[in-house]
Amino acid sequence: MAEFTMELNDEQKEVRDWLHGFAADVIRPAAAEWDEREETPWPVIQEAAKVGIYSLDFYAQQYFDSTGLGIPMAMEELFWGDAGIALSIVGTGLAAVGVLANGTEEQIGTWIPQMYGDASDVKVAAFCSSEPDAGSDVASLRTRAVYDEARDEWVINGTKTWATNGGIANVHVVVASVDPELGSKGHASFIVPPNTPGLAQGQKFKKHGIRASHTAEVILDGVRVPGSCLLGGKEKLDERLARAREKAKKGGAGVPPAGGRGSLKNAAMATFEASRPAVGAMAVGTARAAYEVALDYARTREQFGRPIIDNQGVAFQLADMRTRIDAARLLVWRASWMAVNGRPFTAAEGSMSKLFASETAKEVTAQAVQILGGNGYTREYPVERMHRDAAIYTIFEGTSEIQRLVISRTISGMPIR
Ligand SMILES: Cc1cc2nc3c(=O)[nH]c(=O)nc-3n(C[C@H](O)[C@H](O)[C@H](O)COP(=O)(O)OP(=O)(O)OC[C@H]3O[C@@H](n4cnc5c(N)ncnc54)[C@H](O)[C@@H]3O)c2cc1C
Repeated sequence: MAEFTMELNDEQKEVRDWLHGFAADVIRPAAAEWDEREETPWPVIQEAAKVGIYSLDFYAQQYFDSTGLGIPMAMEELFWGDAGIALSIVGTGLAAVGVLANGTEEQIGTWIPQMYGDASDVKVAAFCSSEPDAGSDVASLRTRAVYDEARDEWVINGTKTWATNGGIANVHVVVASVDPELGSKGHASFIVPPNTPGLAQGQKFKKHGIRASHTAEVILDGVRVPGSCLLGGKEKLDERLARAREKAKKGGAGVPPAGGRGSLKNAAMATFEASRPAVGAMAVGTARAAYEVALDYARTREQFGRPIIDNQGVAFQLADMRTRIDAARLLVWRASWMAVNGRPFTAAEGSMSKLFASETAKEVTAQAVQILGGNGYTREYPVERMHRDAAIYTIFEGTSEIQRLVISRTISGMPIR
C-alpha cells in the first residue's frame, strides 16, 4: 500500500508538467472555437493521440498508479485547459473503466484498444446507462437485454440518453436489465461492437456548457450482440442473478442489507464511489483555471486609481476561492488514495469529494465572472465559458442532491438503493 503523501513524486510532477504544457499550448487556445462550433474536436483528440495522452497506455498508467494521484492529477490539468475538449479526450476512459471493472481479460484485450483506435485513426467510446426515465434513479432503467440461447446472442432494446460520445463511438458500453424484478441487481453491461445494426444516434443535445463534448441519445432497436459481449460472461451473471433471487426470496430485492455502512459494499455503489473523485478533479481543474484568470485580472484592472485587488471585498473573494479549491483537491486526493488502496468508504468519501469540488467549481467560476465585471460576462474572456462548463459537475455522475443522499445514508446507517 502506498503511503499517503501530499506531494506528487518526481515522475508524477514530470507527467503533470507535460500535461499542463499540452493543456496550455493545445487545449486552451482551441477552447473558444470548439465551444462555438459545438462539435467534437477531432483534431485536438488526434493531437492528444499523437503525443500519447489519448491512449489506453496513458490512461491505464494513471489508473493503476498506486498512490491514487495519477488520475486526479491528469484530470485537473486537462480540465484546467478546457472542460469541453478535455471531456472529449477522457470520455472514452469512462467507457473503458466500465470494461476494466467488469470485463474478462479477453474482453479487456479485445475491446479497449478498439475504443481508442490509434493515432492515425482515432476512435472514441461511450458509456450508456442513463435513460429518459432513469437518471438519478438508475435502478429503474427499462432497456432490456434478452438471451437468445439458440444463437448465443443477446437482443437489446431501449433508449439511452445523455450519452457522452453516444452514436459517434466506435464501441458503446450499454447497461441493460436482464431481470427487471431484481432492480439494479438485475442489470448487466454489454459491449455493442462497431457498426452493429439497430444502434442509432437519436437527438444530439445543444448544451449550456462543455459544448465541445458530444452528448446524444442512443436508440437500441433489436440490437443483437454475441454472447461474448456480455461483460464478465454468462456464468458469472447467472451466479449473481441466482444469489440476488435467493436474497429477494428472503426479502427485499435490489436493497442492500440494512446496517448502513455496509451499504457501500454494494458493487455498483462501490464503483461509483471510486470513480467520483475523478469528476471532482475535473471540477478542481475548471475552478483553478477561473481563479487564475480572476487573480490576474484583479491585480491589473484599475478602478478609483488602484488595482481592484486592493479592495478587501475583491481580495477576500480570491482568498475564499483559493481556500475552497485547495480543500476540494485534498478531498479528491484522499478519496482517490482510498479507492486505489481498497480502503472502505465508511462515510462516502468519494461522494463527499465530488460534492464539494463540483459545488466549488460552480461558486468559484461565478465569483470569477463577478471579479471580471462586464468583461467576465462576455465571450472575450474565458471565465464566461468556464462558468457555463462548471454547471455540469453538480449534475453528471450523480447530482449534488444524490451525493448528499449517499453521504447521509452512509453516515446514518440507512440503506442505499
Ligand atoms: C452533459 C452530460 C453528459 C452525460 N454523460 C453521460 C454518459 O456518458 N453516460 C450516462 O449514462 N449518463 C450521462 N449523463 C447523465 C447524467 O448522469 C444524468 O443527467 C444525471 O444522473 C441526472 O439524471 P437526470 O438528468 O435524469 O435528472 P433527474 O434524476 O431527473 O433529477 C432532476 C433533479 O431532481 C433531483 N433529485 C432526483 N432524485 C432526488 C432525490 N431522491 N432526492 C433529492 N433530489 C433528487 C436531482 O438532484 C436533480 O436536481 C450525462 C448528463 C449530461 C448533462
